[in-house]
Amino acid sequence: MNPQRDHLLRELGIGPQWRLREVAVVGKPDVPVAESAVVPAASSHAVAPRPISAVSPVSGAIDTSHMDWDALQSAVNECQACGLCKARKQPVFGVGDTQADWLFVGEGPGAEEDERGEPFVGQAGKLLDSMLAAIDLKRGENVYIANSVKCRPPGNRTPEPEETAACWPFLARQIELLQPKLIVAMGRPAAQTLLQREIKIGAVRGQLFDYKGIPLIVMYHPAYLLRNLPDKAKAWEDLCFARKTMTV
Ligand code: URA
Repeated sequence: MNPQRDHLLRELGIGPQWRLREVAVVGKPDVPVAESAVVPAASSHAVAPRPISAVSPVSGAIDTSHMDWDALQSAVNECQACGLCKARKQPVFGVGDTQADWLFVGEGPGAEEDERGEPFVGQAGKLLDSMLAAIDLKRGENVYIANSVKCRPPGNRTPEPEETAACWPFLARQIELLQPKLIVAMGRPAAQTLLQREIKIGAVRGQLFDYKGIPLIVMYHPAYLLRNLPDKAKAWEDLCFARKTMTV
């Protein structure tokens, strides 16, 4: 009995009968997977992914390959590579432990994130914090949180492919510097940015992908879960899968 976890699971809309150790999770393959490979696991409905142009290199895109964390943060602060810089209050770089094993990637800042300069501080962020706590993780401790785009899309719309592409060098460099042990892509835009192909969350969750040698899994975005309460149980399965993948 762990009252704290039970409380968090209730917040997730899942009964306290759910326990990390009791949930059947899909195993990680014994052999490393090739770059961008898909390892079918939980879902048998995986559709053949179609490539997308969302993160195709942009001509004139900023070269971040030599940047350390400070230089990267400055570059993000000054960035005017796409139209999102016009309406932003401030860019939202990312937050957490720069030595973290876990990297969670979302879509882009919303109004509160734009105001405060930190990712996932609104309602979706509260749910994300609860989800982290449910698997014994905490923002800032062995966890780094970033977004596909660093500036708020007006009205919280989905970022356009050109915007994601313009911002891609920043996320790519964050991953290079961080070298996490697991990347969790939250929601379709983040997953498509990282996998460079069209996906449907329902089809790819429970599968293990590979991003340049780093295991990557996909789960529902917390904001989606807030709107679709029945899918919160699936989020718990995804978290168990993430935990299992990390410990194998
Ligand atoms: N949604 C996201 O994808 N990122 C945030 O930072 C906040 C909400």
